[in-house]
Amino acid sequence: MNLNDLLGFKPADFRNRDVSVEEMLSWFDACDAAWVHSGDSRDPHAELTSGKCSNGFFDCLRVLKYVKLSEILANQLARKIRSTIGDQNVDWVIASPMAGITFGHDVARALGAQVFMFTEKHPDDKDAMLWNRLAIPEGASVLQIEELTTTAKTLNAVQAAVNAGNPNPVNWLPFIGILVHRPPQLPVDHYGDRKVITLIETEVWAVDPDKCQLCASGSVRYKPKTHWKQLTGKA
Ligand SMILES: [Zn+2]
Repeated sequence: MNLNDLLGFKPADFRNRDVSVEEMLSWFDACDAAWVHSGDSRDPHAELTSGKCSNGFFDCLRVLKYVKLSEILANQLARKIRSTIGDQNVDWVIASPMAGITFGHDVARALGAQVFMFTEKHPDDKDAMLWNRLAIPEGASVLQIEELTTTAKTLNAVQAAVNAGNPNPVNWLPFIGILVHRPPQLPVDHYGDRKVITLIETEVWAVDPDKCQLCASGSVRYKPKTHWKQLTGKA
């Protein structure tokens, strides 16, 4: 499976079947969007932007920038959400910026939601979000969608911003739909009172170099964004 194969996909061919996790990961691999350490300490590991070491790296945008792949994956997530929540109404879908925006819109369409909108990054506080353009009417059901979740930080910032900025109380559905869920330790089934519904789930840790098992055993660190070939061993 290479990128040309993926770009030849027809979304209609995937509409009525579940794609396996292995198959989806092969798409991420073909897009250089995912890498997880082999477990062999002779293989290199990742140096994150934060300076921490990690055994995995995901960049969903490298997949989701392809319109058809975003549509197919959004439809897959919508199928999984429907199999959990049944036919209950999803009136609004809300996502976080930036990579989650187009994906959230695709999920909203696949679920038949009336409205899609996203929170905005707070200009003065990197940990906070803003919700001030639209008003969710009272009683409308709201589902949050994320393309990548590592910790509850972004999830909670989105919910807090909407709760604070909306003129009415917000009726959150007790679920969160996530394309790639990679917490530092599994299992994580819920964030607060919202149940996780995810397509791809894997444990990815990140630690300071002085606490890193791989550094200690001689594994070399590479920055994924600039040293992808060295990190993944791809020719
Ligand atoms: Zn390390």
